[in-house]
Amino acid sequence: MIHEILRVGMLQCNCSIFGDETTREGIVVDPGDEIESILAVIAKHGLKVKMIAITHAHIDHIGGAQKLKAATGAPVFMNAADEELHRRLDIQAGWLGMPMPETGEVDVALKDGDKLVMGATEMNVLHTPGHTQGSVCLLIPSEGKLVAGDTLFRDSIGRTDLPGGDGRQILRSIHDKLLPLPGETVVIPGHGENTTIEREKQFNYFLRGL
Ligand SMILES: [Zn+2]
Repeated sequence: MIHEILRVGMLQCNCSIFGDETTREGIVVDPGDEIESILAVIAKHGLKVKMIAITHAHIDHIGGAQKLKAATGAPVFMNAADEELHRRLDIQAGWLGMPMPETGEVDVALKDGDKLVMGATEMNVLHTPGHTQGSVCLLIPSEGKLVAGDTLFRDSIGRTDLPGGDGRQILRSIHDKLLPLPGETVVIPGHGENTTIEREKQFNYFLRGL
């Protein structure tokens, strides 16, 4: 499987570009910004993007989605519980002093248990509310990878002080959905360095007592 991670935008969101080597189908996760760079990676691998998946509706993760949709024709997938946040991208832009991005509709609602298929690869959608109500993680069992959005970071967890955040709920989501995964599962967080489930079980201060 092709997998490239680009750090995009002011907050350096990890945007994942996945591709199937045989079918050349691609999935882009969290195209927050710098769509030209994302399109260059897509072109380099000759991919046809079939889905734009959003882990949650914070502007640094979703800000470039409509521009990427316009360039590729791919539909945007997001959990419906983040619709309210999505409608307030103008307020989010104000928090960060950023220009307002292009806005548009989400095309498909991502739900817990959904399977996204890209060539021979399946991605499982895990609804992990807490950072936002519509936060999801994407698990790729055949690759042993988890795209965690802002739910779990190396040595940290997502902030829960923004609208829609819930500190107990994020811990419950991590406990119920993420910690049961195989320890060697590689975690690609929404920001910063990759980690593994086992490493975070051992060293992540926020998960003590879970
Ligand atoms: Zn976020």
